[in-house]
Amino acid sequence: MKFYTATTKETLKNLNVERTMGLSHKEAQRRLAQYGPNELAQEAEVSKVKLFFKSFKEPIVIVLLVAIILASFSAVYDFKVTLNTSHAWASVYEAIAIAVIIFVNAFISFYQANSARKSLAALQEMSHHHINTLRDGNWQPVDTTQLVPGDIINVKMGDFIEGDVRWLKVSELQVNESHLTGEADGINKITEVLAEDAQLGDRKNMGFSGSTVVNGNGIGVVVTTGMQTELGKIADLLQGSKTQKTPIEKNVNALAKKLMFLAGGIIVFTILYDLIKEYLATGTIVLTKIPEILSSAIALAVAAIPDAMPVVLSIVLTIGATMLARNNGLIKSLSSVETLGATSYIASDKTGTLTKNQMTVVRFWANNATFAVEGRGYDPLGEITPLTNDVPYQAFLEAAVLNNEAEIRQDETQNWQPYGNPTDVSLVVLAAKAGITRSALLEKNDDQDIDVIRLLPFDSKRKMMSVVIEKNGQYQVITKGAPDVILTNATGIMLDNVVKPVAEYRKKFDSKILEFANDALRTLAVSVRQVDKATALHGTVADLEKDLTILGIAGIIDPPREEVKASVANLNAAGVHVVMITGDHGATARAIAYQLGIVDSKQAKVIEGREIEAMTDEELFQVVPDTYVYARVSPEHKQRIVKQLQKHEAVVAMTGDGINDAPALRAADIGIAMGINGTEVTKDAADLVLLDDKFTTIENSVRAGRRIFANIRNFIRQELITNVAEVLSLVLGVILITAPIGNISETTPTLTALMVLWVNMISDSLPSFTLGYDRPEGDLMKQGPRDTKQSILAGMLPRIFVRGTVMGLMVFLAFIWAAKQGMQVSEAQTVAFLTLVFGQLWHIFDARSNKTLFSRKPFENSRLNLAVAFAATSSILVTLMPFFNKVMGTAALSPTLYLAVIFIPALPTFILSGIKAMASKRA
Ligand code: ATP
Repeated sequence: MKFYTATTKETLKNLNVERTMGLSHKEAQRRLAQYGPNELAQEAEVSKVKLFFKSFKEPIVIVLLVAIILASFSAVYDFKVTLNTSHAWASVYEAIAIAVIIFVNAFISFYQANSARKSLAALQEMSHHHINTLRDGNWQPVDTTQLVPGDIINVKMGDFIEGDVRWLKVSELQVNESHLTGEADGINKITEVLAEDAQLGDRKNMGFSGSTVVNGNGIGVVVTTGMQTELGKIADLLQGSKTQKTPIEKNVNALAKKLMFLAGGIIVFTILYDLIKEYLATGTIVLTKIPEILSSAIALAVAAIPDAMPVVLSIVLTIGATMLARNNGLIKSLSSVETLGATSYIASDKTGTLTKNQMTVVRFWANNATFAVEGRGYDPLGEITPLTNDVPYQAFLEAAVLNNEAEIRQDETQNWQPYGNPTDVSLVVLAAKAGITRSALLEKNDDQDIDVIRLLPFDSKRKMMSVVIEKNGQYQVITKGAPDVILTNATGIMLDNVVKPVAEYRKKFDSKILEFANDALRTLAVSVRQVDKATALHGTVADLEKDLTILGIAGIIDPPREEVKASVANLNAAGVHVVMITGDHGATARAIAYQLGIVDSKQAKVIEGREIEAMTDEELFQVVPDTYVYARVSPEHKQRIVKQLQKHEAVVAMTGDGINDAPALRAADIGIAMGINGTEVTKDAADLVLLDDKFTTIENSVRAGRRIFANIRNFIRQELITNVAEVLSLVLGVILITAPIGNISETTPTLTALMVLWVNMISDSLPSFTLGYDRPEGDLMKQGPRDTKQSILAGMLPRIFVRGTVMGLMVFLAFIWAAKQGMQVSEAQTVAFLTLVFGQLWHIFDARSNKTLFSRKPFENSRLNLAVAFAATSSILVTLMPFFNKVMGTAALSPTLYLAVIFIPALPTFILSGIKAMASKRA
């Protein structure tokens, strides 16, 4: 059926659905099974096989493959030339073991990548769009993937249309369909039947999947879903976005590449150096030494690269994302985790984010008198008392509820509950206190016949909302909105039952607004105008909202959220500036900002939207760093503010809830949307969605971002220290051992390649990864935000080199000592191996801190304790089990020696930490 040629009745009949009931839940399930979920066919995921082999492209694997080739060459050389079969077999084991490790590594990476993919998918599911749908006679939010043909949906400004829809009822509905038609302006929608030859762009009684509602609202019935929609037909043209690597990941990959070249250099150097050393000592090159020389080279190659780092990094970032979601902060991509921690400006809306969005009119001014209103909350009970003269105010209240879609209703427990926009609810409650309700006004009787014939919804750009009513055959526009805006569109003002020219009373009006606003009240003016029928029916927004007569101003209290004050203080202490950007009046904004500690003076500077309008970018650039309140701004101003702040190298997080905020959210480093009250479009544009709409969640997310970043730095430092130690102990062996010591020849490597691999893959990486769960080191929010231009290694290099050098020296000395005792090669290498293992296992407790081991409780991370215990035990076991002795070149040691290699390596950690603690105490 061509639904645009059918009447709404025929469409509903064809789809077998009742207009007032919608589908039943059961029927919807049945249709879902029949038509499938309402989504476009997913781009084929990277296949599991591909994901598995992906790790083979990592630099480390390339180095390991080279190591296998060297080991195989060495084995062949031993079998054929030197006839040293025991060394030959060792090389064979080495090659096999390295190959096994490549596969194990691929498996671990695959497993991690797969589970990261799953947890990201789970997070993405949480950010699915929802749409108000009629099922079983009740309107309810339904995940758009669950929509089926026949579903009746209700959309409003800021919603996505998902599924193709035939409109049943529209009210100033405008939809942006640029993705299908290229037309950038909103298209006005209608419900009338169209001719068969109407082209896609002209089918105005239809809505198409992928469009956004830019104005008004509408009710429609879904006619097709998923790949059957117009969007589905062109779906292959749409490019899926690729998952990008986060800046840290790029950083680490670049580091790994550099280290790979370094490894190459070291290998060539050691081989040449060993050969020259041989030549100088003996006058010839003894070929039997070549396999041993190669062994050293292989071990070095493996040592120089932090093999496990990329995998550990992506795990830690994913842990971070899950941690944030648990705190009600849903992030869309891993890179937001690290950006959050670097945030230096948070620009937030006022209403609903900093305040409770529970509005009550506490005072109003109408007909030239001020009235006080008693009662808080939604109960329509409370005295209205004149503060000045007593004059009728009914016309003001009647207009306020006619231009209003909100309602209050009693629930089962007789409590009044609000339905609709909080500002409008407050007016409904106010009018009810005076016995005026919308439903009573719309009831028809002998002398009253009112119909609301048009509704021009509120938008934050116009800052007004209007209805057109037909009252006893006459037409009237009722407009309410920001008083200053209403004022510019008004010609008259009602004072003591007489309409006076507004120009004469402008001052009076302004001072009234200011009086309310200075008391932190949100203000809203109500006005009316008589119009002729043609204007009433067909006038544009601009035609209607002019020549108004002001009836009065409401003063609405919207209390600040209690917890925000502390959050603002915490963020300020953390060097993060909190900026309020609001559509509200300047004085109201400043009063609330003062109450929340965003500014510290009642006279603080406030920049208004019209001032921004008058400024050049350069002028705005000058003022943004120390302006903390912007008032009466429109969404475009937000984008300009973000851009100028960014020019100051600021990392800007910005909240937004309306559809027009989407560009500003995209421009911000972290766009933040409200999960509950935000529009679907802003949620889509955001990097962080606040599931509870609370400002405090932003603070918590920044805190979590910093924590994760600090943990990442800790584990990177730990891994690199180990690499430095490994490389150094091996290089010292090559350079300093020029003659045999005991059973050790001048070419025996300090550690075998497999020992090095064991350390990198098991005893170092497992505990490192548990650092991702570490609690923050106390004062993360007392420091300023980090400089994003600095490398992730900034400030860590001295410590990496000092600790790495000490650890490497210790391993080398342990090896020399063992050699001097006359131990076998495998025993001496095992002494060196365990010295390294325990050296870094002790050090990891120190790595948790930027300061020293002694400044934290060492055993509070239970995952770390477990990982260390596992690494320690398994590293000892591989020296005891014959199989590993053969493969890794380990040997069992005497009990005293075990005790020595377990505890002596603790010394540097304790001594160096002690020195550092003393030094910092003195400083
Ligand atoms: P924020 O931008 O911090 O959320 P806000 O909600 O006050 O602040 P807007 O929603 O843009 O910003 O509102 C701006 C002004 O428009 C308000 O101060 C009020 O005067 C007026 N206004 C708000 N809601 C309505 C409404 N439903 N009908 C008419 N006027 C309204």
